[in-house]
Amino acid sequence: MLAYAVILVEFVLSGRFRSISARLGMDVTMRVHQLFARTALALALLHPFLYRGAFNPALPWDATRQFTLTDDFGALASGIAAWVLLPGFVLLAMGRDRIGFSYETWRWMHGLGAVLIAGLLLHHTLAAGRYSTEAPLAVLWAVLLGIAVLSLVNVYVFKPLLQRRRAWTVASVKPAGLKTWELTLQPDGHDGLSYEAGQFVWLNVGHSAFSLRENPFSISSAPGTGPALQFVIKELGDFTRTLGQVAPGTRAYLDGPHGNLVVAGRGEPGIALLAGGVGVAPLLGILRQLRLEGDTRPTSLVYGNRVAEQISYRDELDALARDHGTEVVHVLSEPPRDWQGRIGMLDAAVVRELFSAPEKRDWLYVLCGPPAMMAAVEDCLIDLGVPARQILSERFTYD
Ligand SMILES: Cc1cc2nc3c(=O)[nH]c(=O)nc-3n(C[C@H](O)[C@H](O)[C@H](O)COP(=O)(O)OP(=O)(O)OC[C@H]3O[C@@H](n4cnc5c(N)ncnc54)[C@H](O)[C@@H]3O)c2cc1C
Repeated sequence: MLAYAVILVEFVLSGRFRSISARLGMDVTMRVHQLFARTALALALLHPFLYRGAFNPALPWDATRQFTLTDDFGALASGIAAWVLLPGFVLLAMGRDRIGFSYETWRWMHGLGAVLIAGLLLHHTLAAGRYSTEAPLAVLWAVLLGIAVLSLVNVYVFKPLLQRRRAWTVASVKPAGLKTWELTLQPDGHDGLSYEAGQFVWLNVGHSAFSLRENPFSISSAPGTGPALQFVIKELGDFTRTLGQVAPGTRAYLDGPHGNLVVAGRGEPGIALLAGGVGVAPLLGILRQLRLEGDTRPTSLVYGNRVAEQISYRDELDALARDHGTEVVHVLSEPPRDWQGRIGMLDAAVVRELFSAPEKRDWLYVLCGPPAMMAAVEDCLIDLGVPARQILSERFTYD
């Protein structure tokens, strides 16, 4: 029963409900989704042994076990099918990058597989479960399944319908560094998106609103600059590698805003932004908005890249340092000969050097970058005594 309840909650976590993603953030939502999946798998695999195992003596009121166990194969078959499918389903999700499916193919399989397993489990629960056939529990299962299915309908039907009424148009696609593009969208006949700097959207460029070809990207523009939205996008796979060929005027659809990488409303006396590569995208939005609002708190941007050509918006960052007083620290692991800045990785040593002053323990730290950088920086900040509630982070990839 626990396994099935956890599986049904998984649908809600994938339902892209803004109330969840804006409160918990994508990172926590995905971590909980992964943790729940593993928990449900362990419980489900244990389930038959809990009935049959040596540690399960017959209950005093059911010495013959005729009330707790059934041998009706019709009732057991759906459970056995789900029991066999579930490990493969979870392992496929954990190893999807290594297996080599495209993200869209995997998403189709994940969605359909989840519905199939939930349906099999509902049948098994109602047909074989002694207690689950009692009206209150049967109603609970039906309601939970209804919520789960509605979560899917929300993502694949309701949201696309809404997106069709609020379409966007590609205004420009310009280079913004090595294999990196700046994409600008204009609202098409509506007043744009209400968002906070640092949030992200699921973006679909050039496909039907119902297409699964959508990817998450952080908004790099500031809400205060008007309705146009900007993104900084690095080439990685199918979509991002072809972004440079997208023509102005192409139709786009957005689902969002999502995420909690948001500094609006935070009262910390200083803000440090730490970016690895294209992780600078949401942090740019935050810095731009702070400058627009004339926020007088001290700000630092530590921006790590491999080579100098990867640094996006260098002139704008210089201007931020000059006009807004932002301390901009570039870190390069493969610097050119004449490089005056820091050399190496954006790691614990850099963080310790820049942020170990006692007053910086009260600052807000906003992190976005590759997993290794994030782990090193988060651990170091915690070691320096920065409370976890003052560290906001967003990962662009999940294992
Ligand atoms: C919250 C968030 C914000 C992001 N912001 C930015 C940004 O501002 N700039 C930027 O360059 N990149 C960003 N990314 C990463 C970006 O989403 C991927 O690089 C992009 O989706 C790759 O798509 P592709 O079709 O080119 O590559 P593919 O070959 O299709 O995918 C490569 C990998 O990207 C990931 N990915 C692909 N599609 C999705 C999807 N729909 N949902 C989740 N992950 C996916 C998967 O790990 C996949 O294995 C962000 C990711 C997340 C989760």
